[in-house]
Amino acid sequence: MMPNADPLLHDDDKPHEECGVFGVWNTTDASALTALGLHALQHRGQEAAGIVSLDEKGIFHAHKGLGLVGENFGDAKVMAGLPGRASIGHNRYATTGETALRNVQPLYADFEFGGFAVAHNGNLTNAFVLKRALVRRGCLFQSTTDSEVFVHLIAISLYTTVLDRLIDALKQVQGAYSLVALHNGALIGARDPLGVRPLVLGRLPAKMGGGYVLASETCALDIVGADFQRDIEPGEIVVIDDTGLHSTKPFGKVASRFCIFEYIYFARPDSVTEGTPVYATRKSIGAELARESHVEADVVVPVPDSGVPAAMGYASEAGIPFELGIIRNHYVGRTFIEPTDQIRNLGVKLKHSANRPILAGKRVILVDDSIVRGTTSRKIVEMVRQAGATEVHMRISSPPTTHSCYYGIDTPERSQLMAAQHDVAEMARIIGVDSLAFISLDGLYRALGKEGRDPKKPAYCDACFTGEYAIPLTDWQANEEKQLSLLQPAAQ
Ligand code: SF4
Repeated sequence: MMPNADPLLHDDDKPHEECGVFGVWNTTDASALTALGLHALQHRGQEAAGIVSLDEKGIFHAHKGLGLVGENFGDAKVMAGLPGRASIGHNRYATTGETALRNVQPLYADFEFGGFAVAHNGNLTNAFVLKRALVRRGCLFQSTTDSEVFVHLIAISLYTTVLDRLIDALKQVQGAYSLVALHNGALIGARDPLGVRPLVLGRLPAKMGGGYVLASETCALDIVGADFQRDIEPGEIVVIDDTGLHSTKPFGKVASRFCIFEYIYFARPDSVTEGTPVYATRKSIGAELARESHVEADVVVPVPDSGVPAAMGYASEAGIPFELGIIRNHYVGRTFIEPTDQIRNLGVKLKHSANRPILAGKRVILVDDSIVRGTTSRKIVEMVRQAGATEVHMRISSPPTTHSCYYGIDTPERSQLMAAQHDVAEMARIIGVDSLAFISLDGLYRALGKEGRDPKKPAYCDACFTGEYAIPLTDWQANEEKQLSLLQPAAQ
């Protein structure tokens, strides 16, 4: 897929979540709640944010901007321009150099039935094919995001109601999507038939109007004081209006394939996803990793922040002290550092520092959640050795990432994935560790409460570890180079 954005802002050696969505119906300060929800979902996208609100007269208001939620929605004047009792919002992680404002969501369009705004997390895998057909029919695209395909499919649908038009559109798209949409009469939420990307339903307390909330993760419900009700089910569309919540499942029943990487890395640790607490799951994965590949050592050290829960689980299972041997600086920002090549190469030192007294003279087990390119791992290992560690053993709480994600996560193409190019022994040598081990695929499933991975019916999407893509990669299968140059895989 596409190259990552500025490595000073984004860890160049991690996959990146591509977007978070939030929506609320029937509350005062709907836009303020949406801004709070987006703030809680900031980890899912940091390059741009947008909110669309619907006021009492049925008029839509929008504000979008590049940068973080706080940079865009911290101004009282901006918030005053987003009145109404309903609102949707979007955090975007963009993967191209140009984070054009026209690509920032929610997207808005005027239809014969009135205004319609939509925000999308995921990636459509037949967007190019659909876009080509739509352009031939005269549709004029104004952005390069695949979410605009939804808008045009809804526009040309021959069905009458908004819901029927949306269903008509969704039946034509392939890929992973969790979306929130807003029109004059309702807030809508939808998940793709396999439920690859998350979407949860919450409810505000009566004193706040009792309205419904849709969000990518439960941490966004917590921040606005909404009670978690349930996950939106794979293939489910919910329509929330003044009469309540109406659910429909127009796609027929298929076995779900939730993204297993949400548990390993993407979701915030305080979220509960598909009924499973993320923090506890990460500890279980660490414990399973210790059972599978333990090595004698003096201290277990996480690569912060994402490696922390797995390292805690590992240390507890192995009976070895857990210590913060690497300290992360959270204040590495875009403003004061010139992004020269030399500075980029210093990136890891800007983000991570060795806690020398913890590491000196110790046999260290470093726990991280994944290795993508291997560049950061190599620098961290070097830093730990320079701090005096006598042995460095690396344990990874995911299986080797051997394939790219086409379902809404920004990963490098396979040629850039270290595990696609080298076996584990070679990776260990390149990274510079005394030993390297990844959790097994079965071990990962066990940590998630399964007996192991059923190869005939895997419970999750695990394509980046197996290459088994459950949703067709239509745009990539035919005429790949041309299509990639015409339609970049969307960053949603
Ligand atoms: Fe998640 Fe990997 Fe599947 Fe992408 S390919 S949806 S990152 S499990």
